[in-house]
Amino acid sequence: MVNSTDRTKQPRTGSAATANPAVFCATKQTLLQEFSDAAYCLTVLHQEKFEGVIRDDPRVAQFDQAIEQARLMKDRAKHAYLIHAGEHGCITANQNV
Ligand SMILES: [Zn+2]
Repeated sequence: MVNSTDRTKQPRTGSAATANPAVFCATKQTLLQEFSDAAYCLTVLHQEKFEGVIRDDPRVAQFDQAIEQARLMKDRAKHAYLIHAGEHGCITANQNV
């Protein structure tokens, strides 16, 4: 529970937010969500390929190209997040990717 007098957990505005962008950064949150979505897609494709292997589905090789594309999208999203966080200084210790 957040104590209303605990100002350290409340979003800051103005110069305080500029001085410490780790408090809240909408761009960081967006990029982190895009990375999360891309990682989830990659996981789903791996799961579907695995299930295809178990069923001995001859189409299982078709997953390889989709998996490679999903891996590239995940890597691009991770890179965009890390570049932004490094330049903006809004990464926190518990958000390392
Ligand atoms: Zn930022």
